[in-house]
Amino acid sequence: MFSKILVANRGEIAVRIIKACRELKITSAALYSEADKNSLHVRLADEAYLIGNSPSSESYLNIEKIISLAKRINASAIHPGYGFLSENAGFIEAVEKSGVIFIGPSSMSVKMMGDKTSARKLMESHNVPIVPGTTAPISDLMQGLAEAEKIGFPVLLKASAGGGGKGMRKVFSAEEFSEAFASAKNESLKAFASDDIYIEKYIEDPKHIEVQIIADKLGNYCHLFERDCSVQRRHQKVIEEAPSSFVDNELRERLTAAAINAAKACSYYNAGTIEFLVDKSKNVYFLEMNTRLQVEHPVTESITGIDLVKEQISIAEGNPLSFKQGDLKIYGHSIECRVYAEDTDNNFVPSTGQIKLHRRPDGIGIRVDTGIDPFSNVSIFYDPMLTKVISWGRNRQEAIDRMIRALGEYKIAGVLTNIAALRWVLKQPEFLDGSFDINFVEKSFLPLIPDKWKSEQAFEYENAVSVLAALLKDRANQTSSNGVCLSKNNKWIEGRYE
Ligand code: ADP
Repeated sequence: MFSKILVANRGEIAVRIIKACRELKITSAALYSEADKNSLHVRLADEAYLIGNSPSSESYLNIEKIISLAKRINASAIHPGYGFLSENAGFIEAVEKSGVIFIGPSSMSVKMMGDKTSARKLMESHNVPIVPGTTAPISDLMQGLAEAEKIGFPVLLKASAGGGGKGMRKVFSAEEFSEAFASAKNESLKAFASDDIYIEKYIEDPKHIEVQIIADKLGNYCHLFERDCSVQRRHQKVIEEAPSSFVDNELRERLTAAAINAAKACSYYNAGTIEFLVDKSKNVYFLEMNTRLQVEHPVTESITGIDLVKEQISIAEGNPLSFKQGDLKIYGHSIECRVYAEDTDNNFVPSTGQIKLHRRPDGIGIRVDTGIDPFSNVSIFYDPMLTKVISWGRNRQEAIDRMIRALGEYKIAGVLTNIAALRWVLKQPEFLDGSFDINFVEKSFLPLIPDKWKSEQAFEYENAVSVLAALLKDRANQTSSNGVCLSKNNKWIEGRYE
């Protein structure tokens, strides 16, 4: 049994892991950067250690510092969360060598799936259907053009080391190829220190559907059904749901069988996700495997009742899965909305500042996974995702109604957020009838900015400001009549939750 886990992450996912540790009676140790001194995860953890300066390279990405901290504080294991070092095979290898247990897959599995072209090759040889295209990086422009013509335009240029939609270029014709090839290479080099590019057929208006899998170190594999993550902006997910209303039993069989095959192909253990594109005729294409916990894991937890983080920890301890495939069933429907600090009117540019008000929704069927509270600083250094709101209902409509209600209750002041935009999406006919695909936001939402829904956003803003004013007045009153209230608050700010 682990006695202490070092949480090598920040924000809502660090909080999520700390909570799992608390339930398991395992000591949680947080690490944090200068910018995160006042962060929620730091106050929540049993122990917290300053790791370095604000830039990620000097803190959350500093492999040496993180491993030496783990050893110094006698951590039994490290949970990497998502992002940062979670899929860095070099980091995982270093953890393995240090004697500390990595809560995730082996460095070997991560290596096999980390490079997208070798992953595509591996999948092809294990009967997992891939998007038509190349399975080796293309370095030569003329060779690339010939391949693109063979595949047929439009094609997508993608970075072998890719992630977060970076280094991706859609090319409609041979004339555009040369410029797109150069700019994709350039962007990939900047983002991933590698300019390896490969080519895929561009699938027209598909759904992004992924399968959650989990496996133990004893060779037992299970899937936990699918998630539909087709509501995206800039190829990044914004709203996810489980199950997908597009997936019937036959398609679910094909998706989950392919996902288990993929996991077995790289001798996977711990939680992982296999992402697919599914076209209008329900053809399935492997996109990539994420060898870590996903941001959107709560929707799967909601419909299955399985705590994925606790299961991850148990697997890392060497235990068998706590359930069998036959024990799992889909209960109801769940939706997740990612709340970002961003200016939706202005090309989704991140918004920074200090949180002045954080009034979170609650009530039946609502879960909020957040990394912020009043006084948190939203800095330029990290991902602008603040919070995830997760709804559950007996059916899809109930989950949608609850989400719309919850987002209406959610008040954040101090930074701009996408809350109004999320509510707008949830009310659109394409979302309600499930016909949306990965281009939905781009086609339906962007052209409306700023006119049609600006009034709704203004309303949200006004509302947040008036709640803030009332709250401050409240506090002022309480302080003048009874100084204890504010000082209690201050103490809470510096102390820890119980
Ligand atoms: P990344 O790892 O950079 O996030 P992915 O391969 O996971 O890249 O793709 C991210 C998103 O880009 C997908 O969810 C989808 O919206 C779009 N996409 C990727 N490949 C294709 C393709 N071949 N055709 C159409 N859209 C694609």
